Amino acid sequence: MKRRDFFKYFSSAAILSTLPKLSKAEKPEFNWKMVTTWPKNFPGLGTGAQFLANTIQKLSGGRIKVSVYGAGELVPAFEIFDAVSSGVAELGHGSAYYWKGKNDTFQFFSTVPFGMSFNEMNAWLYKGGGMKLWEKAYADFNLIPMAAGNTGVQMGGWFNKEISSLNDLKGLKMRIPGLGGEVLKRAGGTPVNLPGGELFTALKTGTIDATEWVSPYNDLAFGFHKAAKYYYYPGWHEPGTTLECFVNANKFSELPDDLKQIVTGAAKIANMDMLCEFISKNNDALEILQKKHNVDIRQYPDEVLKELYKISKDVVKELSLKDDFAKEVYNSYSSFQQKTNNWNEISIKSYLNI
Ligand code: CA
Repeated sequence: MKRRDFFKYFSSAAILSTLPKLSKAEKPEFNWKMVTTWPKNFPGLGTGAQFLANTIQKLSGGRIKVSVYGAGELVPAFEIFDAVSSGVAELGHGSAYYWKGKNDTFQFFSTVPFGMSFNEMNAWLYKGGGMKLWEKAYADFNLIPMAAGNTGVQMGGWFNKEISSLNDLKGLKMRIPGLGGEVLKRAGGTPVNLPGGELFTALKTGTIDATEWVSPYNDLAFGFHKAAKYYYYPGWHEPGTTLECFVNANKFSELPDDLKQIVTGAAKIANMDMLCEFISKNNDALEILQKKHNVDIRQYPDEVLKELYKISKDVVKELSLKDDFAKEVYNSYSSFQQKTNNWNEISIKSYLNI
């Protein structure tokens, strides 16, 4: 495909569906594998990985063929980072907070409690220096990261107990991974980490008192409304989780310039597409939870949110103490968030309050 044509196609994701079908005889110049942390075609996330693969393939006119592997098909979910780093696969699809074992600082490129929402994250990454820092972070692992999706604001979670005050968090056994779990622990709760497939039974049998998962779209599919009484919002612990695609740096450097642009352009299209998918599907799923299943949907009390906010600021700041790079990322992230909060007050926040 000529550059001119690429920009024409790039102007609208919708046009992808009108691209001509590849002839079977046409041989791809690059046969790439994408390994993912999701089951194949898992709603929103696995489908997002597949969408990105299809987009790269279509925009390149079939010159890059991308085969997608669900978690465990080629490598286990949490080994994809190393697999792409070492060149076992060319592309990976996951979220940066899964790799905090490599470096705690990576969590800023995914989400942090009371951190930035989806539009703020995208602005920081693309225009506020975030992408440069992310690239620096992954360069040590021979990887080039790209934002490739966002869940939007998640929900607080499903509870079998009413949360009226901070006291109700004391001793609360909740599935909430990562930094959110650390915040709950400092508020007196007991965070537990369980894989998604075990959550419904654990909640139903009382092994846990509460669980967070994603948002109405995914939560309805898991049937949590049959296992818990209350559905709390907002997802203070995951206000806009960025999904990622990372590419093996050697394999990327082998691409001609036009294909490099196609891969990075496709990730931007996928980033937007997944966010819109989540928002649109959440709208429908929320209506079903409210009207069909009469779910008791509640906001966390202000007092609880204020305390969780205070603890979260400490927990996130502690990440910056690790080394100079952590400090650099923390400073960039938090100063952007502060500025965007200032602008939000008189833009989106004011508008939504009408
Ligand atoms: Ca979650």
